[in-house]
Amino acid sequence: MQKSKIPKDSIGAFAVQCEKCFKWRLVPTKEEYETIRDTFIEDPWCCEKRPNVTCDDPGDIEYDTSRLWIIDKPNIPKPPPDTERILIMRRDLSKLDVSYIMPNGKRLRSSVEIEKFLDAYPEYRDKISVEKFAFTPPKILEDMVPRNSEGRNSSRTKKLKTVEDD
Ligand SMILES: [Zn+2]
Repeated sequence: MQKSKIPKDSIGAFAVQCEKCFKWRLVPTKEEYETIRDTFIEDPWCCEKRPNVTCDDPGDIEYDTSRLWIIDKPNIPKPPPDTERILIMRRDLSKLDVSYIMPNGKRLRSSVEIEKFLDAYPEYRDKISVEKFAFTPPKILEDMVPRNSEGRNSSRTKKLKTVEDD
């Protein structure tokens, strides 16, 4: 069997917002980000969770148009052990596609595919349950996507620049 090439995640950096001061703090790894996201509603994030940081310190990153921001739904389950959740941005910046890389390298794109996978490889059933997979893509913040004066249906450019008010 030919080993398929695993595509690269489109996300360049992870950040979390403090519930008290609303500053954005960078999260160094995807793993840590996924842990925060897993319980975000019950356990919102604040600056004090980071060693030696308080709300008085300047934020790590500004919410602006120097980069494209996408916002995740809270409480997306942490991917099961030995699986990876990846997000791929479409070329026209219209949408992100969610897929999971399974422990044997297979890439799956829907809950139906997960079900089929577990039927085909029942040995994974004790480690992997279908409820732990979430194919809901994060939201692309439209205001942050550059567009020309003809409106949001016009073609989008990849290069980010300041968006002017209409
Ligand atoms: Zn804070």
